[in-house]
Amino acid sequence: MELRKDPITRSWVICGDEPEPAGSADSFCPFCPESGLPLQVVATAPTVNGGPWSARAVVHPHPLYGIDGEPGRSGNGLYDTMRPVGAHEVIVENARHDRHLWNADDREIEEYLALCGQRIQDLKGDLRFKYISVFKNYGSMSGQEFDHPTSEIVATTFVPRRVLYELRAAREHYRVKERCVFCDILHQEQEQKLRMVEVRGEYMAGCPYAPRVPYETWIAPRNHEAYFERTALKSGAMRDFAALLRRTLFRIRTIADGFHMVLHTSPNTVHRSETLGFWKTIEDDYHWHLEILPILGTKAKSYTFKEVYYSPVSSETAAAILRERPTE
Ligand SMILES: [Zn+2]
Ligand SMILES: [Zn+2]
Ligand SMILES: [Zn+2]
Repeated sequence: MELRKDPITRSWVICGDEPEPAGSADSFCPFCPESGLPLQVVATAPTVNGGPWSARAVVHPHPLYGIDGEPGRSGNGLYDTMRPVGAHEVIVENARHDRHLWNADDREIEEYLALCGQRIQDLKGDLRFKYISVFKNYGSMSGQEFDHPTSEIVATTFVPRRVLYELRAAREHYRVKERCVFCDILHQEQEQKLRMVEVRGEYMAGCPYAPRVPYETWIAPRNHEAYFERTALKSGAMRDFAALLRRTLFRIRTIADGFHMVLHTSPNTVHRSETLGFWKTIEDDYHWHLEILPILGTKAKSYTFKEVYYSPVSSETAAAILRERPTE
């Protein structure tokens, strides 16, 4: 595997010929506590209900990124390449095989979120890493890898494309208006209430004005905060977020079997880097949030899907439907 930079869009892709999977089609789960498999445990969140633990981070059994060495960025004519140096971990969301983020205890979900925050903060201590991604693929159409409730965390030596677009746009909005674009959106959405799904404490769930897929839903803190980990590591600050995440995923699961979920937070600003050095207003211009993209298999149109997003359900209708859906 290697990282290649698209010379036109300047986004990095990971590319290589992957060996065929070994094809062990057994139903044995490596993440259940009783599996006894020697996993490389990175961190464990304490139990809240008498189980062995509530959440844990382990090294991905087949990591796409390797932790050792330097990226060794080099050129080949007009092309750029680098080694896939990074960290690739699995976050086991719950010790139990059947407890998902939509049917677990809020305290278990809180522990999972705190663990994500802790892993982001720890990985940002490594000055090679520019960005830490947390994401989850659920359902057979999503690219889900494991049956056990899991998310993934990937630390990379570059900022992923979508986040980079958001960071650039947020910086530009701030330069012109001296305000955070996300705060501006949240204020307007809370006033208009057209696309709001639920407000819970300091957090709001709602459908974005220009969705990429039907029922796309974001959850964000209502007050400005650029860094997810700063909120996640504050005692009690994630209680309402945990409940809102559980309720929102439950609603979405009544409409779609699968979904992608991705956390967007500030890149690594612990170390001044050349790439990020000119982002002086990140603290004020960026705003962490979680994006949930439901997968409605039949609606994907191959051209419109990636070139111009097409949603056959408007955000206003989606929010109205989601508001009426059961939450547990
Ligand atoms: Zn399991
Ligand atoms: Zn903001
Ligand atoms: Zn985002």
